[in-house]
Amino acid sequence: MTARIPVAVLAATGSVGQRFVQLLDGHPWFEVVALTGSSRAIGESYRQSCHWILKEPMPAWARNMIVTPSSPDAFDARLVFSALPSEHALEIEPEFARAGVFVCSNASAFRDEPDVPLLLPEVNPDHTGLLSSQRQSRGWKAGIITNPNCTSTGMTVALKALQDAFGLKRAFVVSLQALSGAGYPGVASLDIIDNVIPYIGNEEAKVESEPRKMLGSLEGDQIHLAEVQISAHANRVAVSDGHIVCLSVELNQPVEVEAAEQALSTYTPPADSCDLPSAPHPAIQVRREPDRPQPRLDRMTGNGMTTVVGRIRPDSLFHLKMVTLSHNTIRGAAGGSIYNAELLVKQGWIR
Ligand code: NAP
Repeated sequence: MTARIPVAVLAATGSVGQRFVQLLDGHPWFEVVALTGSSRAIGESYRQSCHWILKEPMPAWARNMIVTPSSPDAFDARLVFSALPSEHALEIEPEFARAGVFVCSNASAFRDEPDVPLLLPEVNPDHTGLLSSQRQSRGWKAGIITNPNCTSTGMTVALKALQDAFGLKRAFVVSLQALSGAGYPGVASLDIIDNVIPYIGNEEAKVESEPRKMLGSLEGDQIHLAEVQISAHANRVAVSDGHIVCLSVELNQPVEVEAAEQALSTYTPPADSCDLPSAPHPAIQVRREPDRPQPRLDRMTGNGMTTVVGRIRPDSLFHLKMVTLSHNTIRGAAGGSIYNAELLVKQGWIR
């Protein structure tokens, strides 16, 4: 690819928006031409409008960019990465798709729509096939694709490897979710220091439904949901980045721990998703130490894109239990969205 594709980041000032700006710095295929913000930020430089919270420095090209409105008339891009709050995404994202600009969205606004791909390239890259009917039925020149909730991400990659190898019936999952998943400024410090909050609004329903769509199969212009049943508990913990999920899974048959370790560690994603700039290498890393994965030690595995699985052991209620870890603002948000966009380019949706 010679010329880079012009892209914009919608809601570049927030927690996920900043991650987009950091990860798109020097991207081989995409060049950021605009950063958008709320009415508070429009007209200011990005440096002034944004309280930068990442340890990586703000890229030089972004510092003096003037924050623009989130409107297709405000700049010329072929693709936008959306880190909009869902209620704004609901109105703004279709404006871009209608105007011929593809939207790779982190928001939940369109994830459940039957004609909108909910995508993890290492799991279901063929689900982009929904874009044809989406564009036709909605009269859009481009389209919207979404990535899942940050808690569904890592566990779904692991469940896919188990589903392919053994078949999947039920999963009981308990999340330990990092603070950056609540955005910025997120949870008040006095609420979370020395504490665990056993409630995250609307989270459990998403974790119970989204994996069924991603693990489902594309039949014609519809997704046939996977039959797996999921029960989820969601908890907020005092960790900066990296969501842990403890899973107990029932497979189609009893499986030895070694066979599960083998299936997870040798999981090979579909060919379309492998040689993309953001593809995780490996897709899944299995840790065999008794006390791993841990967010602080393991979240940057594969540049934050790899799903780390450990503590695979027999389960006294179901067949197996294990722990997954996924970086929530990288694999679970901005990095995942960029990976989705790379897949769209590779598949020829964006030229
Ligand atoms: P956040 O830190 O609260 O950031 C949201 C940003 O959106 C704020 O900077 C806000 O600006 C800006 N904004 C509001 N209305 C806007 C508009 N009309 N145009 C442009 N910008 C606007 O939230 P976040 O964690 O980044 O989450 C962003 C989205 O990603 C949400 O839909 C969330 O559910 C999803 N998501 C987050 C994660 C995660 O790990 N954090 C993972 C997956 C998905 P002001 O501050 O000026 O209002």
